[in-house]
Amino acid sequence: MDATIATSLQSVRSRLDAAARRASRDPSTIRLIAVSKTFSADHVRAAHAAGQADFGENKVQEGLQKIGDTADIKIRWHLIGHLQSNKARKAAGAFACIHSVDSVELLRKLDTAAADAGAAPELLVQVDLAREETKFGAAADEARRILDAGLTLRAARVTGLMLIPPWNEDQEQTRPWFVRLRDLRDSWLAEGAPPSSLAQLSMGMSHDFEAAVEEGATMIRVGTAIFGTRTYHTTA
Ligand SMILES: *Cc1c(COP(=O)(O)O)cnc(C)c1O
Repeated sequence: MDATIATSLQSVRSRLDAAARRASRDPSTIRLIAVSKTFSADHVRAAHAAGQADFGENKVQEGLQKIGDTADIKIRWHLIGHLQSNKARKAAGAFACIHSVDSVELLRKLDTAAADAGAAPELLVQVDLAREETKFGAAADEARRILDAGLTLRAARVTGLMLIPPWNEDQEQTRPWFVRLRDLRDSWLAEGAPPSSLAQLSMGMSHDFEAAVEEGATMIRVGTAIFGTRTYHTTA
């Protein structure tokens, strides 16, 4: 297992580097997040031993379990899945970065919890550009309100935007969504939003991270291409 993970990681990293170079970007400015959901703490250890520092989980409970199981190694944990406000308190103290802030109320809860925990998590605003009924995330105007509210936080910091585009296995079909998120970021910057609150664009997964990198992603969230196909034992 360890050798397979190391090989897959190396392959993802070299594809990331190549995509960055195609877009005349410095690959070291793009953070690869290894999405370890449904995989064990041993999988995380194997990837960490191969040089991987950032890991992502989509559920608070499963994430906290793995954070506990790997407490002896230095990892930056990302929460990339939907966050219910009753779990904000637990998440704020445990994850270095939370990608799924989709309301001002959740933002304030996370900030209060972070202050209480003495933590300073990075927060990303999840933008729902497609307005799919089944998807989480804030519509663009609400996302802008969250960004503005983010200027008055005590402990947490809003540092950018996150996107889960409508599923399509063809990355040329998801590419226009990546462009739209980048354009939205650029228009808010032009309107005077502080650059530090829009530094990150979290977009791109196993099947489309190269297009995302070419279009400006600063964080990509890759699971399957590193750990293999997931098998789910419980329903989501
Ligand atoms: C699972 C997940 C990913 C990774 O998906 P892969 O296709 O396995 O790379 C990325 N982002 C989010 C929000 C996820 O839940």
